[in-house]
Amino acid sequence: MPHPETVGVRAGIARTEFFETSEALFLNSGYTYATAEDAERAFNGDVERFVYSRYGNPTVAMLEDRLRALQPGAAACTATASGMGAVYTALRAVLRPGDHLVAARSLFGSCYVICEEILPAWGVEVTFVDGRDLDEWADAITSRTRAVFFETPSNPMQHLVDVGAVAALAHAVGAHVVVDHGFLPIGMQHCFDLGADIVVHSATKTADGQGRVMGGAILTATDALMVDTIQPLIKHTGPTLAPFNAWVIGKGLETLALRSRACAQSAHTIAATLRTHPQVSWVRYPHDPSHPQYDLAQRQMTAGGTVITFELASQTTEAKTAAFGFMNALQLIDISNNFGDAKSLIAHPATTTHRAIGADGRAAIGLTDGVLRLSVGLEHTHDLTDDLERALANTTR
Ligand SMILES: *Cc1c(COP(=O)(O)O)cnc(C)c1O
Repeated sequence: MPHPETVGVRAGIARTEFFETSEALFLNSGYTYATAEDAERAFNGDVERFVYSRYGNPTVAMLEDRLRALQPGAAACTATASGMGAVYTALRAVLRPGDHLVAARSLFGSCYVICEEILPAWGVEVTFVDGRDLDEWADAITSRTRAVFFETPSNPMQHLVDVGAVAALAHAVGAHVVVDHGFLPIGMQHCFDLGADIVVHSATKTADGQGRVMGGAILTATDALMVDTIQPLIKHTGPTLAPFNAWVIGKGLETLALRSRACAQSAHTIAATLRTHPQVSWVRYPHDPSHPQYDLAQRQMTAGGTVITFELASQTTEAKTAAFGFMNALQLIDISNNFGDAKSLIAHPATTTHRAIGADGRAAIGLTDGVLRLSVGLEHTHDLTDDLERALANTTR
């Protein structure tokens, strides 16, 4: 099935004997067996069937098939309870104490905490690099490196990593390439074609797309990586996605292509409007020509995504005060640290999503107190630009 619009509606349907049109919701933890021998055969792996919903569930399996079909080059997909569950499980699965991980410094707060605190406490050595700088990657990756990890674009700074170039460096030493695709709708970047081994995704964002449930997914380039490395860890440690959440996200995927195209078009227009506004010092949107890595964004991303990052130009007022004043003056756009909702949302990363990385961590990636992250929803573009311009006019600099 070639086109994402069709895949989102049609992939992964497993109809029951009732021939229902919409996907069935299997709210069960366990399964029954006709005989004790059947149960034994199932646990021996002699027959393929569902045995327990921590290992697999028909509704979750439908979502996994649909997600896999939406990400070009993916061989397998396992859903997780959240995006962070996917990030941690993927990294934990490919690393052992004593191993070396190279990670881009510009990361979502919790991703940074995993790389900076949680994995090192378990004996993994981590080197941080500027993900935009291929020389830093080349210097940091050694024969001991077992994995590289990065977001592209990064949340919220929109730093891009050249997936193909970093994958070539990592594969030269036999390291796994783990990409966090959480900032972009699934499929908007063909990371597997560029050399990624594992793509992790937060389905909480545009996949659900309507701000209802948490979810995540791990996708792999090969079946073996999923079956031998990822699935045993999930099976025994339990970061499993609930069937109800899987059902909600699966229905979200039916409209994903339409929603993300509309949001990305709107975001593209709004980015251009904000860029020329005298009260905005800079705008980062990958497909806006002002993005410092615009050429890479054109090569690597099929669209610019649904999120815009920008910095308010404050002159006399303190940056944080100006940013808060602007946010509080918005009438349509909601203040929320989530993104990828049908409703447009604005966040002040320094005091919320990126509080945990500390002032030094924020300075290292250029995240000032004037930076705002705007998640563009499905409202009309003009209503959003009106709201932004009205709030800017009411903000003291
Ligand atoms: C939101 C996000 C996550 C975490 O996903 P949750 O579903 O909130 O756990 C991880 N990485 C990136 C880049 C994100 O934007």
